[in-house]
Amino acid sequence: MSLPQRRITAPFDWGRFHSYRVFDEFLERFVLQRKSYITLHDGRLNLDAAWDDIEERFIAAADESSDVVFETKVLAQFDGASEETKIVFANVEYLWAMPMENISAAKKRSYAQRWFRDRETSSGERFFFNDPHTIANPGSWYLRNKYYEIVAALRVLKLVTREPGFTDVTALKRRIAEICHSAIYEGVPKGDTFAVEKVCGIHSALLHLADPDRYESIISASHRNQICAVFGHVVENPSPDLEVLLKQIRATLYPSHGVSEDPDFKYRWFFYSKDVRPLWIDKKTRKEQRVSSAIFDVRNEEEAADLEGAKDEVTGHRIRRSAKLVKAAKERDKYTCRACNFHFQDQIVHVHHLDPISEYKHPKDTKPQDLLTLCPTCHYLAHYWLRTDPQFKRLEVLLEMLKKLKPRCN
Ligand SMILES: [Zn+2]
Ligand SMILES: [Zn+2]
Repeated sequence: MSLPQRRITAPFDWGRFHSYRVFDEFLERFVLQRKSYITLHDGRLNLDAAWDDIEERFIAAADESSDVVFETKVLAQFDGASEETKIVFANVEYLWAMPMENISAAKKRSYAQRWFRDRETSSGERFFFNDPHTIANPGSWYLRNKYYEIVAALRVLKLVTREPGFTDVTALKRRIAEICHSAIYEGVPKGDTFAVEKVCGIHSALLHLADPDRYESIISASHRNQICAVFGHVVENPSPDLEVLLKQIRATLYPSHGVSEDPDFKYRWFFYSKDVRPLWIDKKTRKEQRVSSAIFDVRNEEEAADLEGAKDEVTGHRIRRSAKLVKAAKERDKYTCRACNFHFQDQIVHVHHLDPISEYKHPKDTKPQDLLTLCPTCHYLAHYWLRTDPQFKRLEVLLEMLKKLKPRCN
């Protein structure tokens, strides 16, 4: 009896993107060696003393007024602080900004430069990198929430630097992932120093950097919820664990909504790509989400037959459909909408696939009976209802609903 062949896939090399490599370097240098990462000071830092000092200056003496900018507050709070305290704070602040695309390299360097001269400050790749080497573009609230984000980062770093026994970055990242996962899904224990009650995106960022294979880089909790609400229905057995669900959604949508042939992008987020973003971002209600998704789906289906053949390399992730099949379906239905009988000069009508998701996955399996002619209005409605309930994949159910609605466009 021969054993089934086992395919061994090499683990994805996250280190090819700077943010993951820089994160590892930061942990190695700052947490394991207790040295500054963003300045050139080489002395071993007394982190315990620094955490206490930062707690006194940044937390106990926090300035709650909103009319003073973060920078001004920090300069006042750390006025007269030791060099060590400033180094530690600047490193933590840098970590908050490091993986974000929309925080400039100059800004990332400025946290050290406010206290240290240019030649005392590190330079190079750890500051200067762009997409795809960053992990996210976090949105204005991440910047506005900076004070709390930094406090949350302080807590994570203080916890891991107080726990003994980390000898390598891998074990350290495992622990950081645990701390951040529990902060996101169970909340932060109130008694902790640097405890924040607000939801902080830094936990998601660190969770992703620490264990990118398991956790998506969706920095905002509301984004995570929105994505799951909008796309949850495309997954056959949706997991109640949102992180798992995000992975399921991405795996399901990648063949249709992926925008790049680059296999690396399978491992990276794509919910923020320009095609997918409008489907969920700023869609406040389920209704808005469904309408924008329906518009996208119809457009995609309409382009499908044109993309057959030669254009595959460019548009390989869109659905493909045989132009012959499309024509056959229209002829069979006499260029007439099967739901409302709209007909105009053998033009205008669309061809709808009863199960668009299965068409994304197996375009070659499309059969004539999966396709039906619909007018544009009925077609949009079909996709709208499909977003509410998968029973509208069934021809009779779909036609019954559309006939009941009787769109009066003709
Ligand atoms: Zn359709
Ligand atoms: Zn119609």
